[in-house]
Amino acid sequence: MIIEIDPGAGFCFGVKRAISLAEDKLQQGGKLFSLGQIVHNKDEEQRLNQLGMTTITHDQMDEVKDNPILIRAHGEPKSTYQKALKNNIELIDATCPIVLKLQNEIRKCWLEGDEDNRQIVVFGKKGHPEVIGLQGNIDNQAIIIENISDIEKIDFSRPIFLFSQTTADEELFDIIKNDIAKRLNDAQKSSTPPLHVTKSICSQVKNRKNQVITFASKHDLIIFVGGKNSSNGRYLFSLCKAANTNSFFIENETNFNPGWLTGVKSIGITGATSTPDWLLEKVKSHINTLIQR
Ligand code: SF4
Repeated sequence: MIIEIDPGAGFCFGVKRAISLAEDKLQQGGKLFSLGQIVHNKDEEQRLNQLGMTTITHDQMDEVKDNPILIRAHGEPKSTYQKALKNNIELIDATCPIVLKLQNEIRKCWLEGDEDNRQIVVFGKKGHPEVIGLQGNIDNQAIIIENISDIEKIDFSRPIFLFSQTTADEELFDIIKNDIAKRLNDAQKSSTPPLHVTKSICSQVKNRKNQVITFASKHDLIIFVGGKNSSNGRYLFSLCKAANTNSFFIENETNFNPGWLTGVKSIGITGATSTPDWLLEKVKSHINTLIQR
């Protein structure tokens, strides 16, 4: 029996960095609070909880005065930094540098916007922490586009500056961009529509799509390990399932069904960008034990 862990699986660079910053701080002793779940994976969160980290909501920030708070890779709106400053809270800022760059670009674009009455449009999920952070850097002035019907919110008589959430789907982004360009052309009857596009999708997310499809096609059985609340996990699993119908989603080794092993000669184990390597290894060793029984 071949059991292979997807070499492209495991944390993305931004999540790795956030966890490493949390571990460094915890090693110094004392408490550490994470503003929101540091990673959409409860097994990894539990591991960090055991080291002394506690997850809090924004409303609980006031209750943890004098203790450091970690800002996760998704980033935060300006109001969080202002609140921390006011309450003398030390921030461990683990905003992913790629998200930070996007926040800065959108803010710069917004600050330059008075002259041409521009609209800032972000393709992303309403309520997603990264989108809340992006909005909070420009006084919530962006138009958030989640799907094609949201395009109706755009005023096609004004310039449009289009960005995307770093974890957005590239194909859907292109569909939306092309639709906006067409409507601008129709509205203005001009061959040079005032549409400025910044495709700010993270390359780590972009590359995972094809990697996961290729990997899923290689094996008889695919075990996808991810947190139930990971949108990246749900998306990547849907790609696995489309490439290989014998794919199953588990949160950890306890969800593995031994019946899935029947008639199978090769197993691929993969996961979301929020699934830790140690959990993939644990699932592999659990399957090995079942096979050897
Ligand atoms: S997916 Fe990309 S942008 Fe988002 S945290 Fe990971 S590395 Fe950063």
